[in-house]
Amino acid sequence: MTKTNAYITTAIPYVNGKPHIGNALDYLLADIWTRYQKQNGRQVRFQVGTDEHGNKIAAKARANNLDPQSYVDGMYGNFKILMGAVGAEYTDFVRTTDQHHVAAVQYIWRRLSQAGLIYKHTYEGWYCMGHEAFFTDKEVHDTSGICPDHQTPYERVSEENYYLRASAFTERIRQAIESGKMKIVPEFRKNEFLELIKNGVQDVSISRPRKNLSWGVSVPDDDTQVMYVWIDALANYITVLGYPDNPEWQTYWPADVQVIGKDILRFHAGIWPAMLLGLDLPLPKVLLVHGFVHVGGAKMSKTVGNVVDPMEIIQNYGADAFRYFFARHIPTQEDGDFTWEKFENAYNGELGNDLGNLVQRVAAMITRYQAGVIGNAPQAEHDMTGYRDAMQHLQFSQALDDVWSSVRSLNQYLERVKPWQIAKQRANDHDAEGHLNEVLAYAASTLLQIADELVPFMPTTAEAIHSIFATGIVPAQITPLFPKIYLHTSNPQAPQDTRK
Ligand SMILES: [Zn+2]
Repeated sequence: MTKTNAYITTAIPYVNGKPHIGNALDYLLADIWTRYQKQNGRQVRFQVGTDEHGNKIAAKARANNLDPQSYVDGMYGNFKILMGAVGAEYTDFVRTTDQHHVAAVQYIWRRLSQAGLIYKHTYEGWYCMGHEAFFTDKEVHDTSGICPDHQTPYERVSEENYYLRASAFTERIRQAIESGKMKIVPEFRKNEFLELIKNGVQDVSISRPRKNLSWGVSVPDDDTQVMYVWIDALANYITVLGYPDNPEWQTYWPADVQVIGKDILRFHAGIWPAMLLGLDLPLPKVLLVHGFVHVGGAKMSKTVGNVVDPMEIIQNYGADAFRYFFARHIPTQEDGDFTWEKFENAYNGELGNDLGNLVQRVAAMITRYQAGVIGNAPQAEHDMTGYRDAMQHLQFSQALDDVWSSVRSLNQYLERVKPWQIAKQRANDHDAEGHLNEVLAYAASTLLQIADELVPFMPTTAEAIHSIFATGIVPAQITPLFPKIYLHTSNPQAPQDTRK
């Protein structure tokens, strides 16, 4: 059987800051999907990358006394470190300063221009540098002139730009979204976007005068203009596949899933489809829009000082614990909330007690009562429909809820059946031996099934469980999974300090 190809993408972050939880969430969600597809026999390309052009980058470089290229060369590696720490098995890393990418973006510009989709126009209006985006009078009015995401006033600008005639594709874009040909997940985001384009998709500025935007891809045949970052950045999803020179891109495009944060939906559901339609390319099949991660109900912000560093979590608790928490306790398609208390409760309770102790107990009983040999018994076959359905619908948090209900059921089963009592009865009851054998074999095979379901989420843990139970002989020594860690909360089992 030949493997079918699949392609998933993540948004490419600006390299001018430290990688944050939102980036980690992109990599994690895409990686969960990737591993699940691979488990089901598909050949997956998984794109990641960095957005290295634009005024924000140039300003940061200047502040560091560097030319922009040296600055981005020194920064993009931070994102690779985070991807590696999260355990993302990406296949393709694109930098928008890559030579191939730059040439491909210029090719795309020419194609769109030849198709009559690019025109020159004077823009008068509002601009936010933090967003690298223009805003309408209404948006500026509704926010009292201050960008709510960046807490900086919008700038009034008047300049000659090239525009992309995105409005020409309004009907095709609307139709693709409504029909689900380009599915926006979740549904409420789809409705939000349809509402936004009620009066049509707007033409968008795709270049700025060089005096206002120096660091970017030059517009072909007009040296006075530089491409605006969005057209450059969005193109990465196809240039990374080799578009237009390497025909292999055709075996992966359209993307099966494009993972994005909610703040960039309008670019991905409006400008990007317009670019693709202008190039006669198919639209992505699914845009998976995740929300923001708050901290104790508040927005994460450097000023407030409540920024949670994904690397700190991964270094202290391990990648699987990070993956578990953010996949299960941050709802896949909505905003979520992080607190250290929630995190350590999940780590010590759900991972340490529910799963870690369960694995340990079952292994220890097989070692003690059966010299490590797992008997033959009917295989556990718990119903995987709920899990598969959730995975199919990109509801990863629900899929993990489903796995945890299997973990809990197995714990309850062992409490009810009490294999340690059956073991004692063996001296004077012939049937007890066979019964014990069956109970422990059932427990081991259920754990193997749980491990299979955990492969996309917690690959190291899945592998560890597999190595304990899959060969039929439980190793004499096993390393405990998720040893207790209390760095931010207190250990309820610790002796109380009674001095005072
Ligand atoms: Zn802004």
